Amino acid sequence: MEIGDRKKHHLKAISRSHVWVWIIILVFIFIFSMTVIGMMTGTYMSTLFYSKFSSEYNRTNEIAMIYQNALESNTELADVFAGTGRDIVITDADNNVIYESGENTCSFEGGMVNDLSLPMFITQFSSEPVLNYTVYMDSVNKAVYVTPDHKLTLNILEIRNNFNSYFNDPDSVGVPFDEGGTGEAEFEMIMGSGLIRFPFWISVDVNGGSRHFISKAYISANLNDMVMMAVTLMVVSALMMVLFIILIVNIVNSALKRGKILRVFFNDLPTHGHNYMHFVIKGGEMIHRISGYGIRYAVVDLSFVNYRFFCVCHSVEEGEKMLRRVYETIKSQLDPKKELCAHGSDTEFALLMRFTDPEALRRRLMTLIGMLEKVHEEHKFVFHAGIAVIEPDGTPDKSGVPVRRKTVDIEVVYSNACTARESLSDSGESGTAMFDEKLIEDQKWIDAVQEHQQKAIDNEEFMVYYQPKYDPRTDELRGAEALIRWQSPEFGFVPPGKIIPIFEKNGFITEIDHYMISHVAKDQKMWLDMGYKCVPVSVNVSRAHFIESDLAEQIRDMIDAAGCPHDLIEIELTESAFFDDKNALINTINKLKNYGFAVSMDDFGSGYSSLNSLKDMPLDVLKLDAEFFRGENGGGRGEIVVSEAIRLAKSLNMRTVAEGVEIREQVDFLAAQGCDMIQGYYYAKPMPKNEFAERVSAGRATVS
Ligand code: C2E
Ligand code: CA
Ligand code: CA
Repeated sequence: MEIGDRKKHHLKAISRSHVWVWIIILVFIFIFSMTVIGMMTGTYMSTLFYSKFSSEYNRTNEIAMIYQNALESNTELADVFAGTGRDIVITDADNNVIYESGENTCSFEGGMVNDLSLPMFITQFSSEPVLNYTVYMDSVNKAVYVTPDHKLTLNILEIRNNFNSYFNDPDSVGVPFDEGGTGEAEFEMIMGSGLIRFPFWISVDVNGGSRHFISKAYISANLNDMVMMAVTLMVVSALMMVLFIILIVNIVNSALKRGKILRVFFNDLPTHGHNYMHFVIKGGEMIHRISGYGIRYAVVDLSFVNYRFFCVCHSVEEGEKMLRRVYETIKSQLDPKKELCAHGSDTEFALLMRFTDPEALRRRLMTLIGMLEKVHEEHKFVFHAGIAVIEPDGTPDKSGVPVRRKTVDIEVVYSNACTARESLSDSGESGTAMFDEKLIEDQKWIDAVQEHQQKAIDNEEFMVYYQPKYDPRTDELRGAEALIRWQSPEFGFVPPGKIIPIFEKNGFITEIDHYMISHVAKDQKMWLDMGYKCVPVSVNVSRAHFIESDLAEQIRDMIDAAGCPHDLIEIELTESAFFDDKNALINTINKLKNYGFAVSMDDFGSGYSSLNSLKDMPLDVLKLDAEFFRGENGGGRGEIVVSEAIRLAKSLNMRTVAEGVEIREQVDFLAAQGCDMIQGYYYAKPMPKNEFAERVSAGRATVS
């Protein structure tokens, strides 16, 4: 994974992480910790109750033994119980009271507690045996009896619930406790001297089960125990709270941090808006949303064409101000919830738009561009928009394969939009262009050419073809134009139309011009040495070359290095070259002429009129563009223009060459008008060097 991809991956993860996931986790942790605290409290209370109860039971058992002994030795019972300080009741097997002592009495008509058990885990982990008793209630003192012949596991909560039915309804004595009751237990709580006491009655069988010895006991909890428990609970609760708060703080913090990270990563400094990363991630989410599968989206690359020019003329600060205005204008024209806009590199803006009809989308963009052109009061800006469409899920693409929305990569679509926008790059006007697969093919071809261009020069894969120029009156060979061909091992025979525009754009054209000049000079020198009657050969020199102030010297040196006489080389300038720095151009032309090279104006009459250039430039040859002769059947206005152009050239002391002449009538017409040379298929197509050499050696034309 590349660094950019990894960054995107992280950002996607950050932007997707949701706080509510953390809140759910937090709630779970809270419930879990409360359960643990509750169970700890329960266990603690049960254990406490259990141990207190056991010791009270043992004590009752001891007194019961004393009573048993007293029975056997006929000792006076009052004496026996006097020292115990307890309330005592003794019943026979039928629960008839046969003895009572102490302040409180009890009826024996309590109910019983059935099979109450501690929660499983407490009984499992408790080292103490579980005691089973039946508990009766004391309606007088609000305490309970416990008899060993009925089962009772020490679940204090259950006991409390069962007490309630008796406290609330004293008349219901005799009803089993487990029929239940609700409400608060009303234990007699004897507080003082550090004790909380829960009174109840304990019954022990004596005399072989024929009597029940029942004594009042208290479960007393030491206040220290209670305090300890309370403190422990508070500490545990406090710890839990601290943990809880730490978690909450962390969540809030990470949410804030996430917001900050996203702001830093998604913020665009010059426009104060969103950047390309935001477009990729949020736009990706939008187009991948299942609810949006049926929607047609357009990804638009909107280029602020003259931004840099504006910055140079004003300042970068002013330029950024314009970027901000442009961004705000775009934003104002988009649906803030359903569409997106971001500022990419300096001059580029990325847009994600919804649409149904491509023509309506184009109109919408042109309206937007119309507004953007006017964001500056004085300048009219130029904007180019490249559009690439994301079709609804399931729509068959060009090769019939249905579009799968979830696999659509918004960056690839944006790159397609950029390719579409680049196709407008030669235009100085605002406009839109829709992406087409053919553009990708073109782009791939450009890449391939650029990749191979240097190797092609090094391996001499470029060949010089010569197209002869003939005198239409005598059919004599008068000259030729050198035209490039590429014999590529990878791509085969490539005509100049497929490479020259690429080289002109990437600047490699200067290398090509050098290559052609030096090869033509060498060929000429070779033919001269072979004794041929050589004719001047013109070489095309690109306008890109003319920014070099020593161009004339470079050309001279190359030709001299080959040992070629200067009058055998002619330099062709295209009309477009005349739009650049005029003085520099005149300077170079003068130098070339001084060195003895003829200079011609290529493609005269195509595109813009260059009558003005003719006025200023000291040129030797005027090449009439092939367009003059296309579809011309003679006798029309075209002929008038051609004859006037030839006349004009003559009066400026220039020779004329007519290009693209294919039929005899045109040759005759041009001959009659005094055209000096014809370069066209009528006489010859561009041909390889050896073929041309044969023509040079023959010296005369062979009409094909
Ligand atoms: P150009 O300089 O105007 O060259 C003339 C073009 O017209 C040549 O096309 C030639 O083959 C074609 N042509 C000549 N006579 C006829 C005719 O009777 N009928 C038709 N249909 N076409 C005719 P080519 O060789 O394909 O070159 C195309 C363009 O590529 C040239 O236009 C020139 O601008 C550029 N180019 C070619 N070689 C070079 C070079 O070495 N350096 C530079 N800078 N540009 C070159
Ligand atoms: Ca030319
Ligand atoms: Ca031409």
